[in-house]
Amino acid sequence: MADKQITVTSPLLPKLDDFIPMLQDIWDRKWLTNNGFYHKELEKALADYLGVKYISLFTNGTLPLITALQALKITGEVITTPYSFVATTHSIWWNGLKPVFVDVDEETGNIDPEKIEAAITPHTTAIMPVHVYGTPCNMKRIQEIADIYGLKIIYDAAHAFGVKKDGESVLKAGDMSTLSFHATKVYNTIEGGALVCHDEATKKRIDYLKNFGFADETTVVAPGINSKMDEFRAAYGLLNLKQVDSAIESRKHVAKAYRAGIKDVPGLRCLQDIEGVHHNYSYFPIFINKEYGMSRDELYAKLRENNILGRRYFYPLISTFSAYKGLESANPKNLPVAHKLADQVLCLPMYAGLEDNSVDRIIDIIQKNA
Ligand SMILES: *Cc1c(COP(=O)(O)O)cnc(C)c1O
Repeated sequence: MADKQITVTSPLLPKLDDFIPMLQDIWDRKWLTNNGFYHKELEKALADYLGVKYISLFTNGTLPLITALQALKITGEVITTPYSFVATTHSIWWNGLKPVFVDVDEETGNIDPEKIEAAITPHTTAIMPVHVYGTPCNMKRIQEIADIYGLKIIYDAAHAFGVKKDGESVLKAGDMSTLSFHATKVYNTIEGGALVCHDEATKKRIDYLKNFGFADETTVVAPGINSKMDEFRAAYGLLNLKQVDSAIESRKHVAKAYRAGIKDVPGLRCLQDIEGVHHNYSYFPIFINKEYGMSRDELYAKLRENNILGRRYFYPLISTFSAYKGLESANPKNLPVAHKLADQVLCLPMYAGLEDNSVDRIIDIIQKNA
């Protein structure tokens, strides 16, 4: 008998019975988008949940990256990481800016702060790091460098929903942070995202920019874009927020089982909890080296044969794609650690409600190949 298919992620869905009265309410209000009731409610609820003061909802997680660069009037060159989802670098390109890739830290996959300074030129105006897999970047060191050179910091926090370090949200670091609420993320609004900033005037500017630059009916203050979240997804998001804590608990349970299962397998490494960090278990990457009996791609194929769909996040590196590979900083010699991780990584299925027997089956296959 064929085993049931297990994908790398499965969306967190609110109860349909809870959603129907909200749909009725949206029908009654006849207000579908443009800062409606549910939009306002979700902004308040998220600010409260995440422990931040100013948050603006977006229609996906890519437009807040693009808008953050606009809002801060970033010019010239932006230092970033090749070890991320393509949207990070694309947002720099869409602003007509030059991405400059810096290598990553082998332990976490996050940008290596000690390699940032060497990449700074007179044209550098910003740093765009990513909290990869939800592990906080070395925010203190990155801020020190930004302060010395007068650079802005925009964190791509798409993986870091609810992550805290020493009791503080990581979203408080830098000048702005972006979130993605795509269906595959820890918390979703189907498609959606947000931009977090630290003062009221900046939030106002962001809200203009996401609505064509309109400040009022007849005043356009900037060449804005349309990236508003509609009422349906805001309502759905309010419901999903109620169960996100239990979803993270469930993910933690899965992570513990995986860690125990691969602990003694030679050639495999996984991420561990970091003291003082409240993790969200958004991904479960394993890194496979030569001591393991198979290559990463062989294990990936073996799992697929067994109907288990892992994902190679992040492979290939962004710096290898045609739009970027001609950049000097994209030279693999500049990015040895990122290349190593991209060749070793495999993200195992990880989602709330992934059953114990499925996790056991995955571990069993992984152990048998060692
Ligand atoms: C998912 C993701 C994005 C893009 O978010 P969308 O909501 O899919 O547009 C950006 N950066 C990273 C690191 C992501 O994982």
